[in-house]
Amino acid sequence: MRVGVVGGGCVGLVAAGDIATRGASVTLYERADLGSGATGRAAGICYDAFAGQVDAAVAARALERYREWDLLTPCPYVWAARDDGDGTAIRQQVREMQARGRDVSELSPDALERRYPHLDTDGVVAAGIAHSAGTLDPDAVVSALATRARSAGATVQTETPVALDGPTTVETPAGTETFDAVVVAAGPATDPLVADVGVSLALATYRAQALVTDAVDTTLPSFYDATEEFYWRPKDDGVLVGDGAHAADQDDWNRDADPAFVDAVLTKFGAATTLSPSVRRSWAGLCTATPDRDPLLGRVADGLWVATGWQGHGLMRAPSLGEYLAERVVGTDPTLDVALGPRVDPTRFDGDESFDPLGDPTADW
Ligand SMILES: Cc1cc2nc3c(=O)[nH]c(=O)nc-3n(C[C@H](O)[C@H](O)[C@H](O)COP(=O)(O)OP(=O)(O)OC[C@H]3O[C@@H](n4cnc5c(N)ncnc54)[C@H](O)[C@@H]3O)c2cc1C
Repeated sequence: MRVGVVGGGCVGLVAAGDIATRGASVTLYERADLGSGATGRAAGICYDAFAGQVDAAVAARALERYREWDLLTPCPYVWAARDDGDGTAIRQQVREMQARGRDVSELSPDALERRYPHLDTDGVVAAGIAHSAGTLDPDAVVSALATRARSAGATVQTETPVALDGPTTVETPAGTETFDAVVVAAGPATDPLVADVGVSLALATYRAQALVTDAVDTTLPSFYDATEEFYWRPKDDGVLVGDGAHAADQDDWNRDADPAFVDAVLTKFGAATTLSPSVRRSWAGLCTATPDRDPLLGRVADGLWVATGWQGHGLMRAPSLGEYLAERVVGTDPTLDVALGPRVDPTRFDGDESFDPLGDPTADW
């Protein structure tokens, strides 16, 4: 079997490696450098704090693989609420996650502050902690996944922008190549790419922003403030703080963070901790969204497969969902022991839906 993979982000690289491992001949095309899309701009938070059965299983498998590949730095993930509504939700989530076998527990504000003395827990009403979580270095992930794909026999062509000349025919600057199957894992560009062969995807894009501070002299967990809606993780000797997301056009967006985002998120970080570091660097990246917040992962035409729509969670789920796709393309038994099929089927939408990429998930499409 000959398979073409379009996109050298974490998802395309995992899929290419897993397809090649199963004996197929794989060529991966990346239009620029590996990891030059969202993957290289990700914060790198990785956790299994999910209440749903499918999400928890997907996250557990991904964590397992990142550990196997020695890419996960252990770092607990704490999520906290500052109002009663969010607090009730967190207590409920913790109970459900525990029922799914996840190593999570509830932490009182006092216990949280004892554990992390530089957190300011004033106003915190509830918090959960995921003990098995960790952080990833996106550059190290890309480099390791590329090595893994090449070792499995895949050919990786960078600086090679491609178009589709048919569901399984790829047009490269050097000519056309026809495969038995083509996987498009090209982030936001997946939509215009498959549009050329008549496939329409329910995909929207939004711009997310992040910054890294200068050194902070303390230990912090990864953290999501459910009420203020921002997050951070320890990064090198400082902290990566992020959010500032808004809908964006994939052909016209600013790769630098907005000064207003930097000011606002540093103020939030200062209020949630006893720290007031300065900014070392900041940036923006583009994420993909779907109407129900589940990915578009599967076959859209004979021999043509897509993998996109990660709603800001693609890096942490790539090892399990890239593997799932690879197994479907090659036709081997799934490693995941939960049924994903209809939930991620890219044809569950008409493809012409218009929706807010950051709005509430719409379950009844
Ligand atoms: C600020 C920020 C923080 C984030 N934090 C996290 C986080 O903490 N945890 C997490 O799990 N996720 C996070 N994400 C989301 C994560 O980065 C994405 O979900 C993930 O990287 C998607 O990977 P991908 O391989 O699908 O897409 P991408 O990494 O975007 O890769 C797609 C690739 O396709 C290539 N391509 C496009 N068109 C073509 C073409 N015509 N020919 C050839 N190649 C093409 C692109 O150049 C690109 O390299 C974050 C994202 C941002 C922006």
